[in-house]
Amino acid sequence: MRKPMIAGNWKLHKTLKESCQLATELVQQLATIEDREVVIAPVFTSLAGVAGEIANSPVQLAAQNCYPAETGAFTGEVSPALLKDVGCQYIISGHSERRQLLNETNQFINQKVSATINAGLGAILCIGETLQERETHQMLEVLTNQIKEGLAGITAEQMADVVIAYEPVWAIGTGVTASDEQAQEAHAFIRGLLQGLYYQEVAEATRILYGGSVKPNNVDGLMAQSDIDGALVGGASLKAEDFIRIVRFE
Ligand code: PEP
Repeated sequence: MRKPMIAGNWKLHKTLKESCQLATELVQQLATIEDREVVIAPVFTSLAGVAGEIANSPVQLAAQNCYPAETGAFTGEVSPALLKDVGCQYIISGHSERRQLLNETNQFINQKVSATINAGLGAILCIGETLQERETHQMLEVLTNQIKEGLAGITAEQMADVVIAYEPVWAIGTGVTASDEQAQEAHAFIRGLLQGLYYQEVAEATRILYGGSVKPNNVDGLMAQSDIDGALVGGASLKAEDFIRIVRFE
């Protein structure tokens, strides 16, 4: 019942030309994909160009960030409505790099999730514990706060537009992946949180992606877990061959 999603977060990589080339390659190789959603998130300056390359293909577009205002005196920021205008279907919020480097709080991230949904787009809400939080047994508390505060005010109906990405910070860009069991355990816990916050149907319908050094050689084991509904892929999404293999998980 939950359609798998494989999303590529290109972070701060690739020029407009390189982004369009990679998008074109993905479109050529993934033209017939139907049973899973494929999403790519290039840098802002490549969004419009990439939107042109993936038009009329199954590949969808996401922004890596947004600002939670429609319009106004917010120099340097981009609203969900403008991201929709340029062709985005999703916006990522709460990525750990933004939480850590830019001190983004759960409250601010919640505003972005809300603004994303209100603009008619899908919100990909990233959560995850640091190594220190895991080792000091704070992981469940951290995930609980990130979910509760990140989804504050989001109704059960609006949850149809929300995808959660569980990304343990210690696994992002490190080459260290959570084991299949560690990831499944966290995902089951998150689904339980959703059941407590909403109700069973919402918990069962919400997709929870795993992120953190997902590669061609570990995606199959992760995707075999009952509560893992897809992947948010960083490094391995920058190479067509690797990303395509991840999309084609077995
Ligand atoms: C990410 O950027 O969300 C991510 C999971 O990166 P990587 O796959 O490189 O660990």
